[in-house]
Amino acid sequence: MADTALFEFDNTYARMPGRFFSKLPPTPVAEARLLLLNENLARDLGLDPDVLSGEIGVSTFAGNYVPCGAEPLAMAYAGHQFGNWVPQLGDGRAILLGEVVGCDGFHWDIQLKGAGPTPFSRMGDGRAALGPVLREFLISEAMHALGIPTTRSLAVVTTGEPVFRERPLPGAVLTRVARSHVRVGTFQFFAARQDSEALRVLADHVIDRLVPEAREADNPYLALLEGVVERQSKLIASWLLVSFIHGVMNTDNMSVSGETIDYGPCAFMDWFDPATVYSSIDRGGRYSYGNQPAIGMWNLSRFAQTLLPLLDNDPKMALAMAQQVIEGYSDRYRDAFAKGLARKLGLAGGRDKDAQLGHNLLGLMADNRADFTRTFRGLSDLSGRIEFVTEDRSVRDLFDDPTAFDSWAEQWRAGLAKQGLNDEERQAAMRLVNPAYIPRNHLVERALDSAENQGDLAPCLELLEVLRCPYEIRDGLDRYAKPPRDDEIVQATYCGT
Ligand code: AMP
Ligand code: MG
Repeated sequence: MADTALFEFDNTYARMPGRFFSKLPPTPVAEARLLLLNENLARDLGLDPDVLSGEIGVSTFAGNYVPCGAEPLAMAYAGHQFGNWVPQLGDGRAILLGEVVGCDGFHWDIQLKGAGPTPFSRMGDGRAALGPVLREFLISEAMHALGIPTTRSLAVVTTGEPVFRERPLPGAVLTRVARSHVRVGTFQFFAARQDSEALRVLADHVIDRLVPEAREADNPYLALLEGVVERQSKLIASWLLVSFIHGVMNTDNMSVSGETIDYGPCAFMDWFDPATVYSSIDRGGRYSYGNQPAIGMWNLSRFAQTLLPLLDNDPKMALAMAQQVIEGYSDRYRDAFAKGLARKLGLAGGRDKDAQLGHNLLGLMADNRADFTRTFRGLSDLSGRIEFVTEDRSVRDLFDDPTAFDSWAEQWRAGLAKQGLNDEERQAAMRLVNPAYIPRNHLVERALDSAENQGDLAPCLELLEVLRCPYEIRDGLDRYAKPPRDDEIVQATYCGT
């Protein structure tokens, strides 16, 4: 097969020292079939969707064919899983094929997830089941459409082979695209081995690839730490602003690129409750919705620790520098969240009163089991003028005690009056930050069930189309905007690995 037109690789990671990875090809599968191709993403990467959906493309996505220029490898990393140190994890079922330069000039990793065992597989089979693969495709696309940094999904192929979990499931491979797959755990892998040379090479790689402006700083490695802290604080704020719960924020699942990565038991919340946990394995609620900002800081502290030898020759000095940046995380996070929340309320932010209004609303929502997404979207439709308060039903009825909303709404309107924007402008701005459609658990479960158990992809495709335009209400999509009925509520989500 001639594949000159498929990918133009420039593999910066494969040029790193040998102890960074294990080079090996993906393991071929019985019968590759293309289920999903992300054509827009393909074009953004300068790839031809027609070629990708042809024989060579599908064989590549399945791991049955290694295209010209690819240098397949499994990355080494370590990590803290639920707070427990694991000195070696690594890509146990993912193979990085290589990096392509997108139309934006950035390098993008092309990785096959579910591509067979690697030296890092431990007891695992190196494979992925169709359900979790489709789940990652759906939710990562939804995140992207919501404007939240995330790894992307280029393609899904089925393998024609079963994977054995509690029961046999159809196997699949996801082609994942990311600015980088370097994790906090990648740095930890080398720090634990006291391999300062590798740490420096890794830090330089990440600077070149993700934080080039750090190169100009007096201390580039301190600037790297600042850059990663800045991105993570914004990322986690953006999660909370759409009610996203990652579910397994282990340090090996935190990317230094600031992209959301490793969609496992993640979920969006319906009724607002900061203590919400969906992941079946998160028994202590370590990764609950409301704990995510604090866990972000915990993970970043682990990252900072790994950089200490690079920050200064004097360990005390290095520690003081790192501490200062880590201490800045809380302010950065709070600022990003407060600004975002103010925007969701149609307020300019920056005033203590705006922050207090947002905080009060969240408290009332939690006390009254108000649906997160509908409350904010509903507010976008309300008039700021007091004589129109009768319209408030659409929002106040979301609260167990609707009167709880009324006095808050009065203060909100007083806040809006100070903005000087007319209703239409303010509503239009609010509708750009308050989605109508999110990947609600019951919708996702139903779509995955159809694909996995009935071989019917149509519900997934329809849901994907809805989620790709989350801010624009369209006729006939009402059921996608609604919380589950009692019998549809999803209590727990699973890693599915
Ligand atoms: P995750 O829970 O997906 O973040 O994965 C944690 C670790 O387990 C990583 O090192 C993965 O590569 C590895 N892993 C997860 N699933 C499998 C699998 N089916 N086979 C081999 N390794 C796996
Ligand atoms: Mg992971």
